Amino acid sequence: MNLVFLGPPGAGKGTQASKVSAAFGIAHISTGAILREAIAAGTELGRKAKAIMDSGALVPDDIVIGIVRERLAQSDCRNGYLLDGFPRTVPQAQALDTFSRVEAAVNVDVPAEELVERIAGRRVCKVCGEAMHVSLLRDGSCAKCGGEVMQRDDDKAETVRNRLRVYESQTKPLIEYYRGQGVLIDINGNQPIDAVLADILSALEGLQ
Ligand code: AMP
Repeated sequence: MNLVFLGPPGAGKGTQASKVSAAFGIAHISTGAILREAIAAGTELGRKAKAIMDSGALVPDDIVIGIVRERLAQSDCRNGYLLDGFPRTVPQAQALDTFSRVEAAVNVDVPAEELVERIAGRRVCKVCGEAMHVSLLRDGSCAKCGGEVMQRDDDKAETVRNRLRVYESQTKPLIEYYRGQGVLIDINGNQPIDAVLADILSALEGLQ
């Protein structure tokens, strides 16, 4: 099963992507996470990506296309994959079509006015990587493992506005791109996490 997850920053894409990939036993590939790992490791890719990501802009297409192409060739993608945060531009989607076949594009939709509050309140666990809203922390720590949490550099208010603008102009056109291919699945992301998950799983049932 080859899936892509679309949706604005803060829609809960990453949260749903983790759960859906685990449910189907397919590889969860987040280009944002791969880039953040490169930054943490201090690689050349990380050095190039850091300033771009901190501004809320997109890393150049050729770089992320190369990352995804290599990643999809790895053995854990044999049963399929779930791409979280890729493609983010029409040229990325066109490139993906040349080396793989997307069976469904899940579009997690949340009203724009909800997004800023969701992103500003997002915290990520330094230990297990889980993302959660600040209101769900347990004694100020990760509700899953008790680890220390942090705010992503690009979740700060100035960057968030730019990321939302970038989403509108560069990523939103992918909704029509995949609708045109007949593979788009629209999901209401403005519900509790479990309800969103149930909607996605039932929409994908027929694909298995
Ligand atoms: P994410 O974790 O998906 O929110 O991505 C965080 C940041 O990483 C984005 O704001 C971009 O700067 C960069 N990024 C992640 N995926 C892509 C992509 N497919 N194309 C370009 N930039 C990306």
